[in-house]
Amino acid sequence: MLIFATQNPNKTKEIRKILPHWEIKSLDDLNDKDDVEETGNTFRENAFLKAKYFFNKYQHPVISEDSGLCVPSLNMEPGIYSARYSGEKNDKKNIEKLIRKLNGQSADAFFMTVICLIQNVEPHYFEGKIHGKIITETRGEKGFGYDPIFVPHGYEKTFAQIGAEEKNKISHRALALEKLIEFLS
Ligand code: IMP
Repeated sequence: MLIFATQNPNKTKEIRKILPHWEIKSLDDLNDKDDVEETGNTFRENAFLKAKYFFNKYQHPVISEDSGLCVPSLNMEPGIYSARYSGEKNDKKNIEKLIRKLNGQSADAFFMTVICLIQNVEPHYFEGKIHGKIITETRGEKGFGYDPIFVPHGYEKTFAQIGAEEKNKISHRALALEKLIEFLS
């Protein structure tokens, strides 16, 4: 069993689909409401802070992940602030702010995930990235976060149109998890 240190049900759902044969317990499953402040300056630091906190608490192997959308022409914003870019945890408002910041123009972007695994003491990191484009209006109903405005390279559709099955084959989270699986096996 692995503890997945997240309160985000979308992430738990994605990870369970990608790792169907693993027993994953999320913080919701553990009825754990502890909120670790993400005070790091990088995805890696924030992933580590969460993994370390829950490893110390449960003394059991933990994975955590920190992820976000980076737009090079906006100095990598929203980056580590992706979840609360608009000032609150609201996907619609975050998307509106990003489109406003881009003055209604499309832009290159990438999603990035860092997974941190702590099994005993030492942290191990696994990264995944997917490049694509931010478009100027939302398309599709599936997924979460910035999915409705992200079109991965080589595709015409947004992550929100592609749907879970295809997204889980190519996403930043899937790529990072592949590296984790390789490490653990
Ligand atoms: P975290 O929970 O601090 O890692 O915040 C991650 C945030 O980045 C999410 O709330 C989303 O806004 C965004 N994000 C991360 N992964 C994805 C994804 O796969 N699709 C869309 N948005 C994502």
